[in-house]
Amino acid sequence: MEEPRNPKELLSLLNQKIQHFALAPGGVPYFTPEDIAGLISKVANPNIRLYARVKYAQQTGFSEELAHCMRIEASTLSGIGGWRVPRPEWLLDLSRLALFEDIDPQTCPICKGVAQRLVNSKIVVCQACGGSQRASLQDSDRARLMDIDKSGWSRVWRNRYNDLKGHTIYIWDGRLTRLFQDFLPQHRAVNAT
Ligand SMILES: [Zn+2]
Repeated sequence: MEEPRNPKELLSLLNQKIQHFALAPGGVPYFTPEDIAGLISKVANPNIRLYARVKYAQQTGFSEELAHCMRIEASTLSGIGGWRVPRPEWLLDLSRLALFEDIDPQTCPICKGVAQRLVNSKIVVCQACGGSQRASLQDSDRARLMDIDKSGWSRVWRNRYNDLKGHTIYIWDGRLTRLFQDFLPQHRAVNAT
């Protein structure tokens, strides 16, 4: 097993996890993926629809398309669109990284949740998560995946990364949470009959 080298690889790992989690972390315990699919059709904004499919309906095959949509939306925002970036695909990679962390923030990205790694033909406990199978990315991981030095990440990009998330996925998720909450009483009534 090799460590992911860039955010695209990280995001692509989501596709392999599809059958391994019943609902996304921080998900919606009262709804099945089929319920979510029905609710998604009520959302007018196409980016929020796509986000809901990937995060809550387990359709992680759309994660790369979602990253592209997120990049396009972010680049139209006044602050983010004016950023001077280190390379052309920077904002796309930043979107991929943010989506990976948002959609599957719990599973260790180094061992992919198996707690072990193969090092020099020996199976050893994964150092990244200490065998817990769970680990959030650290700033040093984000800097490595984005191929930038850690001080550059801490100085400039840590705050901008939060800005990007705040203007996209946090807003999208907030709208979906309200939609789920609005629908819940109706959903319970139907299931009770
Ligand atoms: Zn691990």
